[in-house]
Amino acid sequence: MPEQPTIQIPLDLPDVRVLRTELTPDRELIIEVESTLPSTTCRRCGKTIDTFYGYDRPIQLRHLPSFGLVVYIQLRPKRFRCPFCDDHPTTTQRLSWYEPKAVHTKAYERYLLLQLINSTIVDICQKENITPDAVQTIIDRWVACELDWETLPEFATIGIDEIALRKGHRSFVAIMTARCPNGELHLLAVLPDRTKQTVQTWLERIPSSRRQQVKTVCCYMWEAYVMAVQAILPRAAIVIDRFHVAQHYREGVDGLRKQELKRLRQELPEDEAKLLKKTLWPFRKRRADLEADEQERLDALFGHSRALKQAYELREELTTIFNTARSKAVGVRRIKAWRRKVEASGLTCFDAFLKLLDTWLNLIANYFCQRQNSGFVEGLNNKLKVLKRRCFGISNLGHLFQRITLDLNGYRRFSPW
Ligand SMILES: [Zn+2]
Repeated sequence: MPEQPTIQIPLDLPDVRVLRTELTPDRELIIEVESTLPSTTCRRCGKTIDTFYGYDRPIQLRHLPSFGLVVYIQLRPKRFRCPFCDDHPTTTQRLSWYEPKAVHTKAYERYLLLQLINSTIVDICQKENITPDAVQTIIDRWVACELDWETLPEFATIGIDEIALRKGHRSFVAIMTARCPNGELHLLAVLPDRTKQTVQTWLERIPSSRRQQVKTVCCYMWEAYVMAVQAILPRAAIVIDRFHVAQHYREGVDGLRKQELKRLRQELPEDEAKLLKKTLWPFRKRRADLEADEQERLDALFGHSRALKQAYELREELTTIFNTARSKAVGVRRIKAWRRKVEASGLTCFDAFLKLLDTWLNLIANYFCQRQNSGFVEGLNNKLKVLKRRCFGISNLGHLFQRITLDLNGYRRFSPW
């Protein structure tokens, strides 16, 4: 084999010297190291001991991949004997870059956790040739199954969202988050269901100093949430996230689009019907975000369906109200005016949404008082939506807590940058 150019890079593991490196035919890089620390702590008396007593069995720890190679660190841990304890027990020295009994270095575990953000355990297992149990063990080591209130930054807003773990309405879990002033979102809890009792019990358990700081609760349109919050946090303003509101009124309009397309495909000659393809995304966009060709396709569609054009315009109008109304009174007045327009239009695609307005307008309009940033919620809900698909079948709430935490805060916690 012709000689390859070589480079030297720091190993970046403290307290070791390299004894040997080997590149195996399977493209594994084995780096044999030995400890440079001359002592350890007696496992019995806790004193520092430095009477060398030989080596333990060699261990091999998987480390960060380098240049496409799978890397292993080999080490024979040193043992020391205690001169202070009666029967002079021996203690095996451990170095700071791995945990007892671990088969990976800490650096590699952090690397795996980073890979796991927005991904699945199955995926990581395939990419890294590692077992699901090993991945879960690593998650357990680094990510707690529940919140440590001590480490949480200050926040004045709680968000209540939900996801359905399985199909059917009985399997909702409530996702409680803290929205911090600096834009960070922290997972507070995953509750097993969305009953008033469950939410209320959880709210009661918030440390009282924290509870007093909560000024706003942004929640999903679900009566049990509102009732629980009113019972435990009577002074907090309850706001329905505009993101959820938008989901509802957009859903109706999307339904009408489907219906109309189906009708047009049957009624129009084939070549004309073909032109109506590729209207889904333009239709979902805001008018201002449309490219010229998208606008053309959309206009062609609207040329065939006046109802769809009307629905689209009403949808955009409502979004504009949410973007621009500067007070609750103005917001309510404009939404009511919008509602009259919908009723006069004869459209039925907003019917379900109008019903929601009957019940929720007051809390929806609280949005106009504080204009809670819906970017938070939108980001969270997108993550939850994807997480639900990715983590299909996770019914262990602790595991769910870990995975959502990892998705929300993983880059901050585990990225080397
Ligand atoms: Zn001792």
